[in-house]
Amino acid sequence: MGLSPLLAAYDNVLLDLDGCVWIGGTCTREAPEAVSALRSAGKRLAFITNDSSRSPEDYVRKLWSLGLQASLEEVVTVGAAIQYALAAKPSTGVYVIGSEEIFRHVSESGHQILNGTGRERDAQVVVVSWHEGFNYAELRSATQAVSEGAEIIAAGRDRTFPAEDGPWPGSGSVVAALEYATGRSAQILGKPDPRIFRTALDRLGDGRTLVVGDRLDSDVAGAAAAGLDAAIVLTGVTSSEDARAAADPAPVAVARDLHELVVAG
Ligand SMILES: [Mg+2]
Repeated sequence: MGLSPLLAAYDNVLLDLDGCVWIGGTCTREAPEAVSALRSAGKRLAFITNDSSRSPEDYVRKLWSLGLQASLEEVVTVGAAIQYALAAKPSTGVYVIGSEEIFRHVSESGHQILNGTGRERDAQVVVVSWHEGFNYAELRSATQAVSEGAEIIAAGRDRTFPAEDGPWPGSGSVVAALEYATGRSAQILGKPDPRIFRTALDRLGDGRTLVVGDRLDSDVAGAAAAGLDAAIVLTGVTSSEDARAAADPAPVAVARDLHELVVAG
């Protein structure tokens, strides 16, 4: 199984997971074969996700369970980017909207988590990502902390992500609610912020790099911000018309799915 001429020209390939490698618990068509072909050709790979609800270990397990070989180093989540950014700040109180995984990253950054202490509004930083238990009380605490001066750090602006029963609201929808309530803007550390791609390239090393994903507003825009090429697959949220109409920045390729993009013929 040879590589397509397009992929043969790159050294590093940064693969989006949701809507590109898989949708929910199911691989996109022949995604394992596409990843194997990249490995056989000696390409360096990273799997990138704005989904902060699970740990890199969980992703490695899921990748293997679906027939895709991957190492822990190859998985780059936005949670790691949030932890990195927080670790650079002086010790402070943080209010968290997010999964257990985000709580762990914030805790490991060395800051105090104020959730449940009665001092939520004293937080100097509010960290936001989607999670299934998101509720009004969280939005209220976050709104009060931000109104008293806390900055907002968020996992991403993805409006939705694809699930097996249709789109689910993503971190962007939760961030939008907090921004609307407070009139303040969040600092975004997931795609399209380039830092998540730079984190991956720190691990992979230099070389010609292609980002592959299903979203123009996060994968293609983020790649452009990082100075990287991007290709769009149509297995997620972007339609063929949208992908072809996208002029700035334009993807270097639009493919029906990852396998069609990667494998020759
Ligand atoms: Mg995606």
